[in-house]
Amino acid sequence: MDLTEEIGDVLYDYGRGLYANITNRCPCRCEFCIRNMTDALGSADSLWLKREPTVEEVEKMLKDWDLSCYDELVFCGYGEPMERLDDLLEIARYIKKNTDLTVRINTNGLSDLINGKETAPMLEGVIDAVSVSLNQSDAEKYNDLCHPEFGMDAYPAMLKFTEDVKKFVPRVAMSVVGVIPTSDIEKCRKITEKLEVPFRVR
Ligand code: SF4
Repeated sequence: MDLTEEIGDVLYDYGRGLYANITNRCPCRCEFCIRNMTDALGSADSLWLKREPTVEEVEKMLKDWDLSCYDELVFCGYGEPMERLDDLLEIARYIKKNTDLTVRINTNGLSDLINGKETAPMLEGVIDAVSVSLNQSDAEKYNDLCHPEFGMDAYPAMLKFTEDVKKFVPRVAMSVVGVIPTSDIEKCRKITEKLEVPFRVR
């Protein structure tokens, strides 16, 4: 049995990006989460992993994959990649050492709460870009939409992580999903202006 059959779609592509889906774990239950709607994404048939791949298994998959048509490796998938911070950094180091790809993390920004420590400094020199899901304009609305297991601590922790990570990662951006009201999108835009990071409605 090959690794994809045994584990599921760990790598999949979408445009010029190669995506690494390394965990199903996530401390949120966002109402818009794609995992409530479909298993398939990009070139992947199903992003639900039967088990988490080891670092060595991901590196082997990357070695066997033709990387020549991609610009970046993006940690993203059906779970929150920062749930596996140490493994993610090891895979990112492998990419930086062996390829020309840049490395981005798409995250809910709750890494400090997940890992119980300040995590932004750990990304220095390894990660090129971080995209944080802002999702709503205040903690109460965020909780109603994303149901984080950390409760009201989640929203301020996500904002703090974003502020912190700007010191260690060259490109930081924030996004919201287009399902929230336009007035909230505008409030979110103002938050990102204060944080001095680019803003995107996805
Ligand atoms: S943080 Fe991301 S993976 Fe987790 S529930 Fe929300 S949208 Fe889904």
